[in-house]
Amino acid sequence: MKNITIAIDGFSSTGKSTIAKELATKLKYVYVDSGAMYRAVTLYAMQHNLISEEFFLKERLIDALNNIKLAFKFNPDLGFGEIYLNEVNVETEIRNMKVSRLVSKVAEIPEVRKKLVEQQQQMGINKSVVMDGRDIGTVVFPDAELKIFMTASAEKRAKRRFDEFLDRGEQVTFAETLKNVEYRDHIDTTRKDSPLVKAKDAIEIDNSTLTRKEQFEKVYKCALEIIGSD
Ligand code: C5P
Repeated sequence: MKNITIAIDGFSSTGKSTIAKELATKLKYVYVDSGAMYRAVTLYAMQHNLISEEFFLKERLIDALNNIKLAFKFNPDLGFGEIYLNEVNVETEIRNMKVSRLVSKVAEIPEVRKKLVEQQQQMGINKSVVMDGRDIGTVVFPDAELKIFMTASAEKRAKRRFDEFLDRGEQVTFAETLKNVEYRDHIDTTRKDSPLVKAKDAIEIDNSTLTRKEQFEKVYKCALEIIGSD
């Protein structure tokens, strides 16, 4: 079987990570959640008082980038790698609403992107990787053999994110969640460096109309066609 690189991009809360994880497990590939890396850098900035709703000390964050060490450590119970920020497991903490509100601001900074993209490319150097994010098929792995671009209505995506917040016991409203999804869409699609766009050769999947199983079957079939074609 041929080893390939699979890039899954799309808007927030389109179910990218669910598909990516399932696919990686099925193919015995490594799954990398690139969004977790941007979230972890944001958490670092929050912990060091470099960012809040009111201010953002961008230059200080850029200067501190060498102090930020990110790593994924495989958790066999979960079946995927959890993210560690300077040796501390922050997998749960990076998903909260505070981080969600600030992450797209951090992800706009070219120096941050450069550092994370280099690390992502290193993680995919031996292929056999499924990575999800916003710029994986366009910037990180422009030569990925399989590129998927996932979309869904903002309401549908906000509902998914809202249910996740509720499951974790976080006190947020649906309106706030929808606002955050739309806000991140706006920044992610309009930023200068690596905006969220569908790669020309990506297969688009609108999951407003497909069930989770149907989406998985579709993507898995595409992967098998490539893996088995050599
Ligand atoms: O995927 P997730 O929603 O966790 O990503 C959080 C944020 O990180 C996105 O809204 C986006 O601003 C940023 N991001 C990015 N490039 C990626 C992955 C995530 O800019 N490859």
